This record gives sequence, C-alpha cells and structure tokens, in this order.
Amino acid sequence: MNKEGNRYRKTRNLIKLEKSIAKLRSHINNIRKDYIHKMTTEIVKTKPSHIVIEDLNAKGMMKNQHLAKHIQQCNFYEIRWQLEYKCKWYNIELVMADRWYPSSKTCSSCGQIHKGLRLSDRWIKCDCGLNLDRDLNASINLAKLAS
Ligand SMILES: [Zn+2]
Repeated sequence: MNKEGNRYRKTRNLIKLEKSIAKLRSHINNIRKDYIHKMTTEIVKTKPSHIVIEDLNAKGMMKNQHLAKHIQQCNFYEIRWQLEYKCKWYNIELVMADRWYPSSKTCSSCGQIHKGLRLSDRWIKCDCGLNLDRDLNASINLAKLAS
C-alpha cells in the first residue's frame, strides 16, 4: 500500500525486471532439459544390457529442504521418464530398484547392512575391510540387482 491507501503499483523498471527474470528462468530450464536429454542419450548409446535406477523416496526426502531442492534441480522424474522411453527405443532393460532397498547402507563386498550410516557419511567402512565412497558402493549394489 502507498500513502494514498492504494495498492502498490509496479513501476516500469520492476515490470522490466520481472520480464527479464522470467526470460532467464525459461532459459535455465531449457539448458537443464537439454542437458538431461544429452546425458540420457549418452547413457543409452553405450548400449548396456540394462540400466538400474533407484526409485527414490521423494516424499520422505522432501522433508529435508536441501534434498528437496536438490531433487528438483536434478529433475529426477524427467531423467527417469527419458530413460524409460529411450531404453524402449534401444531395447535396454530398465530396472527400478525398490525404494526401500538399502543400496547405500549395504556393504557391496560382504552384504552387511550398516544401519547407522547417515547421509552426511560419504564413505562406508566395513568390518570386512571395505572402505569405499558411498555412492560407488551403492552403484555396485544396484548393478547387482540387474544380474
Ligand atoms: Zn563388508
């Protein structure tokens, strides 16, 4: 409200700014979509027999604001959708890991489940001697699901 009691009116500059922000947003969105297209095409063109992806528990993860943003930015559903149809084109089996499968917490060497592993723990150390990056460990576990 201004001093006359009218609703705030947008200045010409503000309108201009809003337009350029909208343009930038759409530009960023296009870059992201283009990137996902290139990335998923690159993956299927290596002609693997199968691709395993994790059905993330997005609902539970949304409770964590940082993760919610991260998931949004990664456009997980866009990636999954693109992989789904591109795998069909190339006759690649797309395996969806169960969202409750503890891919990060399971030792890829001996199978022991490390229930105490937190999201902030980037490395998994196991009694069996395994000492590995958590994502690499999870990837090995997910790859096993397809074989
Ligand atoms: Zn182990």
